[in-house]
Amino acid sequence: MMKLGFIGLGIMGKPMAKNLIKAGHELVVYDIVKENVDILVEAGAVAASSSKEVARQCDIIITMLPNSPHVKEVVCGENGILEGAKEGTIIIDMSSIAPLASQEIAAACAKKGVKMIDAPVSGGEPKAIDGTLSIMVGGEKEVFDKVYDILMAMGSSAVHCGDIGAGNTTKLANQVIVALNIAAVSEAFMLAKKAGVDPKLVFDAIKGGLAGSTVMNAKIPMILDRNFKPGFKIDLHIKDLNNAIETGHKVGSPLPLTAQVMEMMQLLHADGLGQNDHGGLVQYYEKLTGDEVVSQ
Ligand code: NAD
Repeated sequence: MMKLGFIGLGIMGKPMAKNLIKAGHELVVYDIVKENVDILVEAGAVAASSSKEVARQCDIIITMLPNSPHVKEVVCGENGILEGAKEGTIIIDMSSIAPLASQEIAAACAKKGVKMIDAPVSGGEPKAIDGTLSIMVGGEKEVFDKVYDILMAMGSSAVHCGDIGAGNTTKLANQVIVALNIAAVSEAFMLAKKAGVDPKLVFDAIKGGLAGSTVMNAKIPMILDRNFKPGFKIDLHIKDLNNAIETGHKVGSPLPLTAQVMEMMQLLHADGLGQNDHGGLVQYYEKLTGDEVVSQ
């Protein structure tokens, strides 16, 4: 077993780090929020005082941060990983960030002899807790092979999708599908509710058919319970859709539906609901109709 660094102990990072400890690895951890570090220390990890200190102590470092600027700061910034890392260090960035940012950060790492792969995940907090995340990876195949067992301590699959940035490109495709699926489910269930059919019965009737989906199975029970505790925050999904639209513009692939759902999420953000679970997108339709998708 190995000594691993883990930086970014939020909703996802905490359970992922705990699964690495369960698999027998020694962990050195850092987060700017002290309470998050304390929870991991209680689970058996050792706290470091900065990302640089994590890098001094570990040859393989995992990062799980909100977005591109945070990863840039943690890797390339003051007291960042590159200030403490030795040649040959491997960074596994599991955050969902812009593919272009992954390429830029990896290029800065390469100048110091540090290797980086992008390895974002899908599955959300429940699968992070179970250690059954789907992991999509970009970067050198040799590095992927070397860290495969580490990834599989957090996930049930890890697929090498191509060069650096390919993991995050795959993740953007995933996020487009999830956002549009939540919007479709919200729109359809509001229609049923307004037309007088109990949404719970609609769910029971259609979940096994062609319209059924992992998204519907995960989000409709939460919506019916009025449970919008994140999970995956609307604000983080706005970040992903922005990254998708920006990438789409660069490569010449229009995303008209994504742009529309992003604006629906922006309205909820402006109304102070950005920290809700993305299943809270149903509240966009609830604002329009003055009705609620609840069982009758
Ligand atoms: P989160 O906001 O709960 O956690 C982010 C953590 O990073 C926080 O603990 C924060 O304090 C820490 N952090 C921020 N800046 C830092 C810095 N400079 N140095 C050290 N720590 C810093 O977010 P999350 O839900 O855990 O998501 C993390 C990433 O995983 C995001 O890119 C998100 O899009 C992606 N993701 C999330 C989910 C989900 O369901 N929550 C699912 C798949 C992917």
